Amino acid sequence: SRVIVTGGAGFIGSHLVDRLVRDGYEVTVLDNFSSGDVSNLKESLSTGRVNVVKADLKYWGDWVSEFKGAYAVFHLAANPEVRVSSVEPRSHFDNNLVATFNVAEAARVSDVKYIVFASSSTVYGDAKVLPTPEDHPIIPISVYGATKAAGEIILDTYSRLYGIRVVNLRYANIVGPRSRHGVIYDFYIKLTRNPRELEVLGDGSQRKSYLYVDDAVDASLFLFNKLINGSLQEQAFNVGNKDWVTVMDIARIVIEELGLRNVNIVTRAMTPDGRGWLGDVKYMLLDVDKLSKLGWSPRYSSADAVRLTIRWLKGNAP
Ligand code: NAD
Repeated sequence: SRVIVTGGAGFIGSHLVDRLVRDGYEVTVLDNFSSGDVSNLKESLSTGRVNVVKADLKYWGDWVSEFKGAYAVFHLAANPEVRVSSVEPRSHFDNNLVATFNVAEAARVSDVKYIVFASSSTVYGDAKVLPTPEDHPIIPISVYGATKAAGEIILDTYSRLYGIRVVNLRYANIVGPRSRHGVIYDFYIKLTRNPRELEVLGDGSQRKSYLYVDDAVDASLFLFNKLINGSLQEQAFNVGNKDWVTVMDIARIVIEELGLRNVNIVTRAMTPDGRGWLGDVKYMLLDVDKLSKLGWSPRYSSADAVRLTIRWLKGNAP
């Protein structure tokens, strides 16, 4: 059967498309190529089972006709730059929330039965409980987190009203090949420009959980399969690792993997409590018990995921 992947030309989306094709699906990718690129889909496109349609989901348009006859939609299109959301909130409102509403509406009018949504750990904000379980209050501290939380509520409501089956995946930080944003990429770019100095946003003590993209895709498909066989009891799932690393740990791993020495690390705290930017969650570790109890666990630790990502960047990025 045919499924839709929005944001399928992006980092996580393209890995998801690769996996869906391997699992035997035909895939329609909807993407506006704002950060994604068809080159990410090279392998999958060569199978002839992927159709790429240029579409901007913040506008209702011709793309809606692609939903007719689709079995499910994986909604990953968004502006993923948390940092930018405090200075360009409207871009996040439009690309994350309006687009999510349009996708829900397109699914409703076209009778698509299943929606998998790429939500985020940022919905919890500065969580009072670490590791943070799914029933923790939703108190985002970034506009990005707010748009993901609001997107979940719209989808949950569509689920109750129209019987569309939904799963909201609250991803930790996802890293790996084709990733073009986030701390590892930032450090890599800075160090290739100037190998003597590394500017760290925040005081470096921020501590977060990282999940390798293959693990993220595997968990997503694992939950999707439970969703379609009717055995998923809940709609929100944390998708992350059991461990976490500090930003300073990441800096050390990146420096080591690039074979650099005597790098002067300069920390730049944006807030008195050492955050990297307005809306930066300082400590993020998700409680992944719900997912583990269903029988899924990640292959790579946070540190391994970081290491594999910098190795790939070293070999492939500009
Ligand atoms: P990405 O930027 O590589 O992918 C997003 C894709 O969506 C891109 O291909 C982009 O061109 C497309 N897009 C953006 N706005 C669009 C629009 N209006 N219409 C159509 N396409 C549009 O980022 P990613 O890291 O692969 O993120 C994928 C999803 O996962 C996003 O929803 C993101 O918020 C979510 N997420 C990512 C992480 C992470 O650490 N990478 C963590 C939590 C959640």
